Amino acid sequence: MSHVIIIGSGFGGSIAAKRFTEAGHTVELLEMGEDWRQQAAPQVADPAFLFRLLRDYPHDYLRTKPKLLVAQGMGLGGGSLVYSAIHLRAPIAAFEGWPEGWTRAHLDPYYARVEARLGIATLPGATEFPRARVFAQGAAAAGLPPPVPNPLALSGCTACGWCVPICGFGKKTTMAHTYLADAVRTGRLTVRTRRKAAYIARHGDRYRVTCWKTDAVARDYHRVNDGPMVHVEGDRVVVACGAIESPVLLERSLAADLPRGWLPLRSFPTAQLGRGIDGTGDFLQGGFVPQIVDGYKGAVMMTHVDLGDYVLEDVHGIPVGATVMLETRPRGITKPWGQAYKERFRDYGRHMLGIAIIGRQGAGTGGNISVRDQAGIAVTSGAAYAPPAGSIAAARAMISGLGGELADSPWELSRTAFTVHPVGGCRMGDDDTAVVSATDLGLRDNPGVHVIDGSVLPASALRNPSHTISAIAERALDVILGVHPRERWPA
Ligand SMILES: Cc1cc2nc3c(=O)[nH]c(=O)nc-3n(C[C@H](O)[C@H](O)[C@H](O)COP(=O)(O)OP(=O)(O)OC[C@H]3O[C@@H](n4cnc5c(N)ncnc54)[C@H](O)[C@@H]3O)c2cc1C
Repeated sequence: MSHVIIIGSGFGGSIAAKRFTEAGHTVELLEMGEDWRQQAAPQVADPAFLFRLLRDYPHDYLRTKPKLLVAQGMGLGGGSLVYSAIHLRAPIAAFEGWPEGWTRAHLDPYYARVEARLGIATLPGATEFPRARVFAQGAAAAGLPPPVPNPLALSGCTACGWCVPICGFGKKTTMAHTYLADAVRTGRLTVRTRRKAAYIARHGDRYRVTCWKTDAVARDYHRVNDGPMVHVEGDRVVVACGAIESPVLLERSLAADLPRGWLPLRSFPTAQLGRGIDGTGDFLQGGFVPQIVDGYKGAVMMTHVDLGDYVLEDVHGIPVGATVMLETRPRGITKPWGQAYKERFRDYGRHMLGIAIIGRQGAGTGGNISVRDQAGIAVTSGAAYAPPAGSIAAARAMISGLGGELADSPWELSRTAFTVHPVGGCRMGDDDTAVVSATDLGLRDNPGVHVIDGSVLPASALRNPSHTISAIAERALDVILGVHPRERWPA
């Protein structure tokens, strides 16, 4: 049996923790954020609180004005703490061009396994909430297919609409509630929160992970890049920091100034490291509609219209504060302050219908983000970015069909987009340039090191990605742990 260091506790990291501990290995889990299992989470949109749970990139966006901003979850449970709990299987078309062995049919049993563990179900009465009803009326008016309820990881939901940034009532079945709880039960899991992995090195036959301690830090743990350091040692390492931080950690490891006697990771293909990250076409179209939407009721996103390459999801429950930060505004109101702005936002909760667009990025915009490490902090820079073809027109037709008024978005005001669904950066594949192997997600030429998270996806899942990340993790762990014999791959 081996001692496994897992870096990051989101979907990939938590599944790895469960699977390795249940197979008899000991696991040390490093997470730079906080442990929320014993903490009460307030229902506030105060940035001092939000940035204890959210990582934002790039750190210098005010100065550099990138084309794309990214937010991701942080803390024990990773993105599952802050997410809207939506678990959609990727459509068959999403897997075109993926390596052999990665099709919808191959993943279906693993999707089912994840659904069973997280208790995925639709919200009771999902289509009866005013927001879902108005959304359905809008779809009908625009000649779109009728919305269907989202499969969600919620249990005993109070329908208060405040799933993001965290469920204060503990009704989201996060990775901390489920996969990590299973790992804890084995007695073989050690959790170390407030530890940001700085680099990975070799020491003799083993791996060493050196971390910055974030104990004395109040928020923005992802920006820590100096201060006291500690290291842990293991036989294997799982990198599970997500699409932005996993490539950054590997890159930082290759560049690290190592103490005497420590060896760097063996060289591996880096041409695509931190490149080709896909923002899953994220876009938010808002509109002020005459109908009563009563936004803060139900789950954050309860239903979706399936349009093949993309989905439209009804979205609300995002606290007004967060919306202000996203700068979604009524038409004609150019500054997010002042009397006119206040007046227009008075009825915000009752009449604002949000439509989230998630799917295939507009043509020619793949690989819109690149990640390069600056002073230990992940940076992203965007070139062209466009929502899925036809998606904005479809969302707008819904709002217009309801007799509503379109809201401006930052993308239109400044061509700045915002994604919470980045994937890629450590692409899996069978070719020489892929960062990790397509069979077991092993880091090329570094036996015992695996990358298990959203960074390995070769392209967008065309849907909210957590379900696909989880299914990929389960399948790769079957191979790593010998449950799925390698000689039978890809069957
Ligand atoms: C507001 C919001 C809502 C969302 N809603 C949905 C949804 O409903 N459905 C869906 O499918 N997706 C949703 N997403 C996206 C989803 O959260 C991500 O796709 C998913 O969490 C990615 O999983 P992962 O395992 O790759 O990494 P993550 O879940 O991001 O986990 C990575 C973890 O590693 C930690 N970490 C990073 N670097 C280090 C380091 N150097 N050392 C130690 N720890 C580190 C991070 O703090 C984090 O906890 C949402 C995202 C946001 C922000």
